[in-house]
Amino acid sequence: MLTSAARNAAIEDMRRRCKEQGMAFTFQRQVIYEAVLDSRQHPTPENIYEQVRGRIPSISLGTVYKNVKTFLDTGLLKEVSLHHGSLRLEANMTPHHHVVCSGCKAIFDLEETEVAPLELGKTPLPKGFAVSRCSVEIIGLCASCRGIGASKKKTQNNNSSGASK
Ligand SMILES: [Zn+2]
Ligand SMILES: [Zn+2]
Repeated sequence: MLTSAARNAAIEDMRRRCKEQGMAFTFQRQVIYEAVLDSRQHPTPENIYEQVRGRIPSISLGTVYKNVKTFLDTGLLKEVSLHHGSLRLEANMTPHHHVVCSGCKAIFDLEETEVAPLELGKTPLPKGFAVSRCSVEIIGLCASCRGIGASKKKTQNNNSSGASK
């Protein structure tokens, strides 16, 4: 969760960048942006719509899509990954990696400093390719998809020590 100071700073930054882009900073846009900011779940536009509807009941999914697209075009929001099937968004513009559950599609942030800098092998990148940044995706299954954690699966056998004979 963001501290309220960090949250205010992000909203202030958004206001400034809207101005730079010649975009009106409307209440609607602020509410949409805040919905992404407040979610650490890397929400889909549909998730955002559900959030925003609580504050602006008259808003349509189409309007949310349109604004999300504008935010992406202007770099106010970031698309998490191009290959997850559905569009996932985040407002966290600090470079970081992702841990992705292939079961429930949950995406967790992983600080960039938690991963050693990537070393590319001898086989170079395609000729003329300019790297902007390296992002690592760690794919696997989260605890609840593996059936552990949430439900007590703590090998509750009657025999306390050793297996049955
Ligand atoms: Zn999962
Ligand atoms: Zn992220």
